[in-house]
This record gives sequence, C-alpha cells and structure tokens, in this order.
Amino acid sequence: MKNSRDNSQEETIIPPILPTYARANIAIDHGKGVYAYDQNGQEYLDFGCGIGVNNLGFCHPELVKTLTEQAGKVWHTSNIYRIPGQELLAKRLAENSFADTMFFTNSGAEAVECAMKMARKYHYENNAPERYRIITFEDCFHGRTLATIAASGQEKLIKGFGPMMDGFDHVPFFRDMTKVETAITHETAAIMIEPVLGEGGIKQVSSDNMQILRELCDKHGILLIFDEVQCGMGRTEKLFAYQHSRISPDILCTAKGIGAGFPMGACLTTEKIGRTMTTGSHGSTFGGNPMAMAIGNKVLDILLADGFLDHVEKMSYDLRKGLMTLRKEQPKIIELVRGVGLMLGLKITIEPSVFVAKALQHGLLVIGAADNIVRLLPPLIIEKEHIDEALKKLTQICAELEQDLPEQRDDEM
Ligand SMILES: *Cc1c(COP(=O)(O)O)cnc(C)c1O
Repeated sequence: MKNSRDNSQEETIIPPILPTYARANIAIDHGKGVYAYDQNGQEYLDFGCGIGVNNLGFCHPELVKTLTEQAGKVWHTSNIYRIPGQELLAKRLAENSFADTMFFTNSGAEAVECAMKMARKYHYENNAPERYRIITFEDCFHGRTLATIAASGQEKLIKGFGPMMDGFDHVPFFRDMTKVETAITHETAAIMIEPVLGEGGIKQVSSDNMQILRELCDKHGILLIFDEVQCGMGRTEKLFAYQHSRISPDILCTAKGIGAGFPMGACLTTEKIGRTMTTGSHGSTFGGNPMAMAIGNKVLDILLADGFLDHVEKMSYDLRKGLMTLRKEQPKIIELVRGVGLMLGLKITIEPSVFVAKALQHGLLVIGAADNIVRLLPPLIIEKEHIDEALKKLTQICAELEQDLPEQRDDEM
C-alpha cells in the first residue's frame, strides 16, 4: 500500500500539492465583507483581496444570491450553444469601453494568450504574416503559461522552462516611451503593457506615455495591447485603467476582479481585429460558462451602479492621504507611496516578505511585489472605518519593524 512506507526513511516526501508556492501558514475558513477569518476564528482585515480578485469583499450578499440562483439553473453548456449571459455581458462591457467584441476565458493568462493570438491573426489576415513579434516591458507579468512567461521574459519565471517561445522583444520600462520606437521592426505585431504594473511593483504608465505608445502603434501599423488583468474592473476607480488616459488600446485583457472571486477573464477588442478571429480559430471549454456569466453580470451591475466608482475614488483619496502621513512618520520603513485608485504600493526599506509576515501577525493581509513594494489592494467596498483600522495597524507594524532595524551607524557614534 502507498501509505504503508516507513516514515523513518530519509527519502524526501513531496507534499500532495506541488510546492510551487511559499504559502503563509494560515487558511481562511470564511469571510464577510472586508474581513477574513481563519480556522481558529482569528480575524484579518483584507487589504490584499486574494491578489486583487475579491474586489467586492467576501460573500457579497448579491453575489451569493446570484451564484446560488444560477447553481439551481445551469452550470455548463459549452460554447457550441448560445449563452445568453455571455451575450449580455459582452454587450455591456462593449458599451462601457472601446471594445466592439470579446472572448471570455477562465483566467488572466488565457486572456493574454487570446490577445497574442489575435495580434498575430490580425496581421496574418492583413497580408503581413511576418508581423508576429510583441514588444513587452521589464518587470511585466502576464501569466504562467509558456507563451505568457516568454512574454514577460523574467529570469525567475522562465528558468528551467526553455527553450522559450520566440516572438517577444523586451524593453525597459522607459520613463520616456518614445524610446520604444527603436525596438519596432517590420516584424513587430504589437506592443503589450500593463497600464499599472501589478507584480512589477505598482508602476503607472503616465497618460503622456500612453499617448506616445498609441501614436507609435498608429504610425507603424501595429496593435496596442493592454493587460488589465490586475488593474481593470474598477480597481483604479475607473472601470478600466486606460480610461485615465486620452487613448484606447486595440486589445485589452482583464480577469482577476471581473468575477470578484469566481474564475473568469475576458479579451476585448475592436471590430477590425475581432473579425479576423474566424469560426474555429479559438476556443475554450469552460470560458464564458453560464455560472461565470451570471456572476460577471452581477459584478458589473454593482461596479456601474450610481456612485460606486466615486466611492472608490473617495476611499483612494482617504487611504493615500493616510499613507502619506504614515510615510512622514515612518521614514525609516516607508520610502514612498505610489499607485492609483485602490491599487496602492508602499515602497519600503526592508524585504517586503518580512513586512507581509509582520502584517499577518497584526491581522492585516497585504501583498508583496517587485521593487521592494508592499501592495495594498483592498476590496472596493471598504469604508472610512476600514481605512482607519488599516492605518492603525500599519502604524504599529512600522513601529515594530523600526525597532527590529539594525542600529544606525550615527546612533553608535
Ligand atoms: C495575475 C495576472 C495575470 C495572470 O492571471 P492568471 O489568472 O493567474 O492566469 C496576467 N497579467 C497580469 C497583469 C496579472 O496581474
């Protein structure tokens, strides 16, 4: 029998789940609104949202109602039949964005895959099959499939998984995006960027740089792809982050917040590109299933309700103001505050994982990112009282971390 082996053996025992994550030793048992509770009943204020996913908090009553009602009707039918919830959600997302048409997926990486296939297909159908390469940026993150890790090109994502898929040109996250032009060749199909880098450390592409990228794409006949998997769906106080700028993309991927915890994603585009994705050219078994679509439509109802995004804007203002004050009080820990909407980052002087672990001890869930950033991604439904509570905890966390700092040289002298 499998389990009868002698435990005293020195052989390494692999856990039944692949050890690909360095997991914190807590398990959330249930949640309500902005609060999560572990198996011991310990309470956590959730400023991480399962990495920007649970945008409406835990167990939003309207979502629970929608989910349970839909569960009693139909879960899955396949895309070989019409799915009315998809037709409705697509129409509504199109009405509220640059898009004319879209494809529904189960995840962010699949939405990005769809975007990359579309970019290639568009040029292929327009007699430029040589245009297949996509320009991407330093520290970008687009997912974990073979194509999306190749898109990112980061050593920590690709190591051991070579040879990498061909077709990506990586450039720095330029302060002045006109420099991207040097990377454009007759083989370039598209430029892909996150309007606000998530994993890369909450860096927003300025409105001027967005404009520059748009102009470069128009000048060279290439497509502009925005990966809004993390920054889309109200996170930045607009439905889509690109709506802070004066321009729009040709293709946009979104996921994380779109189902507020139910797995789904979407790849949005325009008519001229969409029509090249002909029957049979792409597909997904689960993508756009009736369960996901019921939830997606309800999430959108809530995001688009009068005053909802204004509330996000107000909460963002209050939280940022509080964080700026905290930075002034704790300059030894917090270097700067950046971000937009409720996608905020604290650039800190210590290892983000140390900060995150300390925050956990104080009952606050936050998330690390590249560039020494601690990400704050609270649910969009937070109220002033939650901000005050988070700031209070952050103040304590910083104070304790400051005590742990090694003695400064000038103190010793
Ligand atoms: C999370 C993320 C992805 C990948 O999404 P998955 O659902 O994990 O596949 C892609 N792009 C960005 C910007 C992300 O934040």
